[in-house]
Amino acid sequence: MEEAIRNKYEAVIGLEVHAQMLTKSKAYSSDINEYGAHPNTNVSVITLGHPGTLPKMNKKTIEYAIKLGLACGCDIAPEQYFARKNYFYPDLPKGYQITQDKTPICTGGSIHIQLEDGSDKYIGLTRIHMEEDAGKSIHDVDVFDTLVDLNRAGVPLLEIVSEPDIRSSQEAYSYLTEVRKLVRYLDICDGNMEEGSLRCDANISVRLKGTPEFGTKVEVKNMNSIRNVQRAIEFEITRQIEALENGEELTQETRSFDALKNLTISMRSKEAANDYRYFPEPDLQPLVMDDAQIAAIKAEMPALPRELFLKYTKELGLSEYDAYNLTDNKGIALYYEGIVAHTKNYKQAANWMMGDIKSYLNEFGVEIDEFPLKPEQIASLIALIEEGKISTSVASQKIFPAFVKNPSTSPLALAEEMNLIQDSNEDAILGFVNEVIKQHPSEVERYRNGEKQLVGFFMGQLMKVSKGKADPKAANELMRKTLEA
Ligand code: ADP
Ligand code: MG
Repeated sequence: MEEAIRNKYEAVIGLEVHAQMLTKSKAYSSDINEYGAHPNTNVSVITLGHPGTLPKMNKKTIEYAIKLGLACGCDIAPEQYFARKNYFYPDLPKGYQITQDKTPICTGGSIHIQLEDGSDKYIGLTRIHMEEDAGKSIHDVDVFDTLVDLNRAGVPLLEIVSEPDIRSSQEAYSYLTEVRKLVRYLDICDGNMEEGSLRCDANISVRLKGTPEFGTKVEVKNMNSIRNVQRAIEFEITRQIEALENGEELTQETRSFDALKNLTISMRSKEAANDYRYFPEPDLQPLVMDDAQIAAIKAEMPALPRELFLKYTKELGLSEYDAYNLTDNKGIALYYEGIVAHTKNYKQAANWMMGDIKSYLNEFGVEIDEFPLKPEQIASLIALIEEGKISTSVASQKIFPAFVKNPSTSPLALAEEMNLIQDSNEDAILGFVNEVIKQHPSEVERYRNGEKQLVGFFMGQLMKVSKGKADPKAANELMRKTLEA
């Protein structure tokens, strides 16, 4: 599409995210909540919706919802009712879903994202409510029949509904990345979009820039990665603008994203939409929020990525780039917290984290909790560099690889054993300087004739003859002094 036409329009996007909660049992029964179990094994009479059975509230789900609400600055509703959302579907044996309609547990609040120009934007949240998942219809295993697995039926969900504050596919990408990061930090959802434990429906409309009203929205489903949500939104924006430019009228409908063809296909129009006939769930008591309980949950909240990001940039003096990378993953952030509890050299600690440690994790395909060294051991390695006993390159190339293989030792013991303690003794360094100068008379002459950049060459040679053990700072000074003499 022509840039000029595209630029006449603005996209308006609101996202509905479903997060499966990491509870041991289901939302309203004691059935196990577990992904990948043999089909239809985690199903009791409650999950199967047998007549006369009664749901029982899983208290953990309330705690998880409150955690997320507090993390997003939402208001927690003092009194809540559950509702039945009625519809027929083969993977919904009860014939209804227990959800929250009029009294969602959380309202308001926002998710922070950073825009491409570095500025901050807060995407408003309409609501977060608790509900239960349906079972799973499987269409691609049997050629003739659809199979139903009810293990997922009754798994607790949080539905997070955003305000229509998102203005581009990139903002939607950032928003989802932040939501996923948050639920992982809070340990309430594993955030795995491929396995469907985090799912996103995107509501998309376009309007001419400057128009106060929103355009007709389309809801797109079936994206199994954050990247695919972005692609689906891009496709939809273009499709809608082209339709409007051709004088067509858009209809409110639900569309499905086809990742292979990279397009969306109409599933159903608004006219065919269900009337869910919500009514209060008679089998569950209303929830009355206890301030003491909320306060206790608040007191137990872990450090959140945004707080850590601000601490790293504002208090530890790290760049936004470093702070973003360190807080991207909770395990990495906690490990970094462990290092900086034992060293004041925050930048060095960040370099070790994002450099040598990350490389180790990538090379061995392990997570940070399987990394053999404790954070304080990395701090002791940094201390050894600060004391001038080893250079950073010796620490990285020689000590670190030996240390991860033998974590019960210390960096100092390793450096001594491997004969790597750096020589900052002036006489010893002067010996190396003189040796290098003697070996390279023509370069010395060129240096003295003005080619000062040759100092790099001399330092390289010095490190070679000293086998990397000369303290670089002292050596550099002595080398220059001797050459200038
Ligand atoms: P529905 O009743 O169809 O589910 P809602 O009003 O509940 O619609 O909104 C669902 C989602 O759609 C929310 O995330 C909301 O921000 C978003 N939304 C509402 N209107 C628009 C619009 N015109 N364009 C884009 N998104 C919208
Ligand atoms: Mg909707």
